[in-house]
Amino acid sequence: MSIDTSLRTIEHLIGGEATAGDSTRTSVVWDPATGEEHAQVVLADPRDVDRAVKAAQQAFPEWSEASLARRSKVMFAFRELLDSHIDELARLIASEHGKVVEDAKGEISRGLEVVEFACGLPQMLKGDYSEQVSGGVDAHSFRQPLGVCVGITPFNFPAMVPMWMHPMAIAAGNSFVLKPSERDPSASNFVAELYREAGLPDGVFNVAHGDKVAVDALLDHPDVAAVSFVGSTPIARYVHERASATGKRVQALGGAKNHAVVMPDADLEYTADQLIAAGFGSAGQRCMAISVVVTVGEVADPLMERVAAKAREIKVGPGLDPSSEMGPVVTAQARDRIEDYIGQGVNAGADARVDGRELDVPTGGFFVGPTLFDRVTTDMSIYTDEIFGPVLCAIRVDSLDEAIALINRGSFANGAAIFTSSGQAARRFEREVQVGMIGVNVPIPVPMAYYSFGGWKDSLFGDHHIHGAEGFRFYTRAKAVTTRWPEDPAAASRTLHFPTSR
Ligand code: NAD
Repeated sequence: MSIDTSLRTIEHLIGGEATAGDSTRTSVVWDPATGEEHAQVVLADPRDVDRAVKAAQQAFPEWSEASLARRSKVMFAFRELLDSHIDELARLIASEHGKVVEDAKGEISRGLEVVEFACGLPQMLKGDYSEQVSGGVDAHSFRQPLGVCVGITPFNFPAMVPMWMHPMAIAAGNSFVLKPSERDPSASNFVAELYREAGLPDGVFNVAHGDKVAVDALLDHPDVAAVSFVGSTPIARYVHERASATGKRVQALGGAKNHAVVMPDADLEYTADQLIAAGFGSAGQRCMAISVVVTVGEVADPLMERVAAKAREIKVGPGLDPSSEMGPVVTAQARDRIEDYIGQGVNAGADARVDGRELDVPTGGFFVGPTLFDRVTTDMSIYTDEIFGPVLCAIRVDSLDEAIALINRGSFANGAAIFTSSGQAARRFEREVQVGMIGVNVPIPVPMAYYSFGGWKDSLFGDHHIHGAEGFRFYTRAKAVTTRWPEDPAAASRTLHFPTSR
């Protein structure tokens, strides 16, 4: 399979067919490195959404009846195809998202790990059995797929985040409609083609492109059983409320403001390198990016010196240029928003150790240089708001107690990290910090596929984290069976009392 990079219109993939659908609305997909139009993507209206849901619904009976062996065979084939197409997919992502190709490969590899976990579906779908729960009575339980599941995903990981969802849902026997971000939609079509080549029946995985109109139609659709959402907090809250109101199962992961606490006993050189990678990788457009450094005591000055020097050295350039370390941000609006926040930080009195607006970055595309603010206070907008760009803020505190209390006052609660050489400090941190994912000397603690991913508070609405064992639970529902084969039915006792096992 080859990518047609001259493709001007990106269409839906519904029931195995590419279609522009009934809607005439489209949206521009930009090349963030040049600021030029890369393609147009069609935007589904409710009729197009209904067609996608119907295709998934029609495919569901056969797929949910497929043996576990058949399902895992398809997942293994999909895994192989994905692995052999990493380079192409990474370049496609770089051309629409803007991230550097190596970073795009990293996200695909993390998505691939979820596919590999999903290949173990026979083990994950095993039920429970208890014999002789009462005289001559046995009990067992198992889990069954839900039906049509939907994924609504953000722009920042166009391959990995959808792969937190669809391999798990499909492995569990569901059919799926993906509504990816309209800003970098091509990766989803690419993945759909790979599923097809892997032998997945048409209609089990569908891609419907669109914006709020498509999302609302999916949230309200009576034949959608479950919705997985990843995106910003206001939309996550909205999706959770609206889809729950129509009785759907929902998990909605929101935004983040992740803190890294640096203790005086941390290895400074190592920590500075990790902060640079986690603050500025993917131009800060990661839900697990570190956006706040909390320096404890005397570590502040030497750490800030190092981080500022390293931030100035970052090579900013097009994602497709192998020498670039950091690419552009996704759109001109994102660049303007980020630069506006930098201005707000300066006006509020934060110490701009590195001001990305003043660095020498390529012109033409949506580039913003890395920015480092020191002496930030908790009332500043650069601290309270999720900027989602290459802006790292540092706050100075005197103790670990203060650092933990600071993190716990926040409304976002995705991830947090501590850099220290003290096991005691690390243990306290991991037990007392109220977030969903903790790193100890690891800045972006994205859990492996066989653990689950998710935040707390305003970073996740719903009660299931995503992928891992929780993924299989989310995409299935339990059934419990009680069985009796009386040897002499006529002699079996008859009672109007509620049956007990005693
Ligand atoms: P977004 O919330 O703008 O969009 C996410 C999805 O929702 C897209 O598919 C979009 O089309 C749709 N959408 C946008 N506005 C909508 C509306 N008004 N009504 C209905 N649907 C709407 O997010 P984004 O800018 O694409 O991605 C960045 C955000 O995602 C950041 O806040 C980031 O922290 C978050 N994110 C979170 C995680 C996590 O695991 N918690 C992971 C990745 C990204």
